[in-house]
Amino acid sequence: MDTLSETEVLINNKEPLTRSKFFMLKVGENMGLDKPTIRDIINPQQIVILRLPVKLWGKVFVVWGCISLHNNARGPYKGGIRIAPDVNLWETVELSRLMTLKTSISDIEFGGGKTGIRVDIDDAYKLFGKKDQGNDHEFNKALSLEICEEFASEAKRYINDLTYIPAPDMGTGPEEMAYIYNQTLNPASVTGKPEGIHGWLPGRKESTGYGCYRATLRLLEDILRIPPQKSTLALQGFGNVGSYLALFLAEKGITIQAVTDLYGGVYDPDGLDISALYDYVSENGTVKGFVEKSITNEELFALDVDVLVPAATGNVINKENAGKVRAKGIVEAANVPITYEAMNLLSAKDVKVIPDIVANSGGVIASMEEYSRSLSAIKIEKESVFRIIDEKINNSLNAVFSKSADENIGFSEAAVQLAMERVYDAMKKRWHI
Ligand code: NAD
Repeated sequence: MDTLSETEVLINNKEPLTRSKFFMLKVGENMGLDKPTIRDIINPQQIVILRLPVKLWGKVFVVWGCISLHNNARGPYKGGIRIAPDVNLWETVELSRLMTLKTSISDIEFGGGKTGIRVDIDDAYKLFGKKDQGNDHEFNKALSLEICEEFASEAKRYINDLTYIPAPDMGTGPEEMAYIYNQTLNPASVTGKPEGIHGWLPGRKESTGYGCYRATLRLLEDILRIPPQKSTLALQGFGNVGSYLALFLAEKGITIQAVTDLYGGVYDPDGLDISALYDYVSENGTVKGFVEKSITNEELFALDVDVLVPAATGNVINKENAGKVRAKGIVEAANVPITYEAMNLLSAKDVKVIPDIVANSGGVIASMEEYSRSLSAIKIEKESVFRIIDEKINNSLNAVFSKSADENIGFSEAAVQLAMERVYDAMKKRWHI
């Protein structure tokens, strides 16, 4: 008998040595901070565990989740809601810590938080007597909308007074954010709202993909010195981030040879037709079957392309497969797609990695705009939002590239150092740590 309770599953025992912890310990020591101070910056300030009884079609489906409120020294806790079958507490803590670092390096006045909601879709299919093996997209959407509505109601003490400001992450999107708004009726309380909903922002839905695209161009042009039109790329994940990123890259003339997702992958060495793939995925919910030649995730990671972009989930490039990577550079569109052990292996092979806290910061940069303009009925142009993202990501990358060169450290360590200095400074001023 499985004796683990949902809380035990969520807590998942001892916190593993995650990548951000690894870098923050190192950077903290370099900054001359004592251990308790470093721990104060690394640890979340509050963790909330939630039981969510989700009411759907006359039945109650209970799911569990957690909110990690990591750090609000520089502004309100900010971070997306992830719904996935493998969510656990330490993953949510890690993602909230990344948000603190991301908002800090981007120099926007937010702190870091995150929500993880663990949903076993097979259990839901069993409860509702469905047989489609998790593939009924209409059912999946109805479920995630109801989960978010229940979440907003259970977590209202954090959301309604802008203590924690959620946004989309894996498994959630603009529609879910509209359901959260329904509960709060405050346009500043949630970002990533769909077009036409009070306080929405033009360009928000494309913003993370757009930012990753700009980061990819900087990697190609400034670091790898490969003209974008002559470059090749492989992409894991074709959701909110991956799909828009692919459209921007294809428009620029970059050859995308392979795309994979949860259900399968497609490969064409001459380049996939990305706008046709976008339409195909909108209809079928997966890239699988778009062209004849298929590819697995592991094959994709080993492709001989210039740039590899993991835009799906965490820890996919790890010590088992990092040795097989042949790309010259990686853009971390997903959060923590590379483990710290793999990071060391890749750096020994001189693979250049644009770290997640910069590469995928376009979303939270746009969220800052959405939040601060939430009471205005006058809409800013999408192009203006993109310009703000450009400027912020370029500033972060300039700082990272020069710190990396000056101190002979990798881009990831340089990024964490820049971010951590700002967080420490704010904590010192507010709390005299
Ligand atoms: P999404 O749910 O819209 O899409 C996820 C994509 O990844 C889908 O194509 C899915 O099939 C695929 N996928 C999931 N698990 C996979 C697996 N094990 N193997 C292969 N493919 C898999 O999610 P998203 O919003 O695009 O987020 C993707 C990543 O980007 C996540 O790591 C998220 O934390 C990060 N991110 C998202 C945002 C945002 O604004 N949405 C912002 C910053 C970072």
